[in-house]
Amino acid sequence: MLGQMMKMPLLISSLIDHAEKYHGATEIVSVETTGGITRTNWSTVAERSRKLASALSKRGIKQGDCCGTIAWNNHRHLEIYFGVSGGGVICHTINPRLSPEQLAYVINHADDQILFLEKTFLPFAIKLKDHLAGVKAVVLMGSRDEEAAEQLPGLLFYEELIDEGEDDYQWPQLDEDSASSLCFTSGTTGNPKGVLYSHRSTLLHSFSAALPDSMNLSARDSVLPVVPMFHVNAWGSPYAAAMVGAKLVMPGPGLDGSSLLTLIDQECVTIALGVPTIWQGLLTAIKASGSKIESLQRSVVGGAACPESMMEAFREYGVDTMHAWGMTEMSPLGTVNNLLEKHSKLSDQEKNKVRLSQGRPPFGCELRIVDESGNLLPNDGKTQGDLQCRGHWILNDYFKTDIQALTDGWFSTGDVATINEDGYMDIRDRTKDIIKSGGEWISTVELENIAVAHPGLAGAAVIAAKHQKWDERPLLIAVKAEDADPSVEELLAFYEGKIPKWQVPDDVVFVESLPLGATGKVLKSKLREAHADHLL
Ligand code: AMP
Repeated sequence: MLGQMMKMPLLISSLIDHAEKYHGATEIVSVETTGGITRTNWSTVAERSRKLASALSKRGIKQGDCCGTIAWNNHRHLEIYFGVSGGGVICHTINPRLSPEQLAYVINHADDQILFLEKTFLPFAIKLKDHLAGVKAVVLMGSRDEEAAEQLPGLLFYEELIDEGEDDYQWPQLDEDSASSLCFTSGTTGNPKGVLYSHRSTLLHSFSAALPDSMNLSARDSVLPVVPMFHVNAWGSPYAAAMVGAKLVMPGPGLDGSSLLTLIDQECVTIALGVPTIWQGLLTAIKASGSKIESLQRSVVGGAACPESMMEAFREYGVDTMHAWGMTEMSPLGTVNNLLEKHSKLSDQEKNKVRLSQGRPPFGCELRIVDESGNLLPNDGKTQGDLQCRGHWILNDYFKTDIQALTDGWFSTGDVATINEDGYMDIRDRTKDIIKSGGEWISTVELENIAVAHPGLAGAAVIAAKHQKWDERPLLIAVKAEDADPSVEELLAFYEGKIPKWQVPDDVVFVESLPLGATGKVLKSKLREAHADHLL
């Protein structure tokens, strides 16, 4: 017998409808690409999203078509998120840091019909226009700009496009399994692979992201998504913020520490989401300014391992760091670190230890570790294996490829991890980065976390260097902090007592900067190309 309850599709349009109806006056603060701040609210964002959906439909964009965005975190990008997906069109967010070839590849592969972009990225469109045959129109995200119009004939302007939309547009009632948005993986090897989210997966992910043991979002929060909207939907924060009616503070292109600090203080930000490299800049700016970031309660750190020293630095200002882990293929939330009731009696130091891991999965996402033959490994906090997951917002297939994404219904993340008895997961490494020295595994993540706590370093990466006797040995690639000149001996001595002796790197190579990929992660493949033979 079936239950007798209403079945309403889980649609992205229902999120913005809710935000409009119950949180219409809640502010959306947005830093403009051309400078200055725009203040709007959920009600206006909703109205303009509908007009955008209407305008696109009038211009012949059909449900199931793709529209691309190359844009910062701002209110127009937010309207595009809801207007494009709400109208049944797929919102393809594009990472501007991809190479020109990769940009052309993802736009053509997605068959983007319209390209929304910031003025900053107009040169891309001009340069690539002959390689983007399928793109029917490029829309500059702003008001009419004669200088830009001259540079790219046929260019449309966002504010004029919105004006083309009808006021009485009604969202279509879509199948909740329809595609809603598309994001490509970073593509450090070969072409990026597409992950096609659905309305249903996005809504279930939003519920989960907002839960108390996830990011604990509410209508009392002022949320600063520093993590870009072009990469895994800013960790789903725009959708989750609409769901709970939180205030959103969109930082635009200014992601330097002092710009972020000003926004946090002015807009009373309570929770900020970002990667460790960005937070490093913020912490430096806080120190220099003497601000106490009084409003900030939580910082969500993900995308790369959060070093202990960063958690401690945030704690000094009364900010709780929530370590989170996930990936493009997972929408992205896989785990968030929060304490359990049983931890309440622990000392601060013991609690901090628990908080260092990447955390536990929320309902809707399951994790397990397996060995090379796919055998299940124990959750004992010691045994490490290939991390696999499954759940409501985990991909089933990659977009338009026949790559097999799942094994026995599980997605292999490419991460190596341990899981303890309570389900806390610890990322040890990426499968392709971990060091195998004389048959024993060494985690580069652990070695890097120790190195970055050294005051003389501004950055550090550890790679596997080839070794005649041990096959591979750890090599520390280090960037000196300004005005600091640490010696190799001093850095290696810094590891003493923190890890077993045999895991200490064999040597240190100093570099000016670390090579970063499109999503801001260190490109270890590049470092290996340059330094893998260093110990031979
Ligand atoms: P992406 O799909 O570009 O977001 O990259 C996902 C990958 O980033 C994961 O598979 C991890 O290797 C890494 N990652 C994400 N969050 C963390 C974290 N908290 N600690 C360590 N690695 C992380």
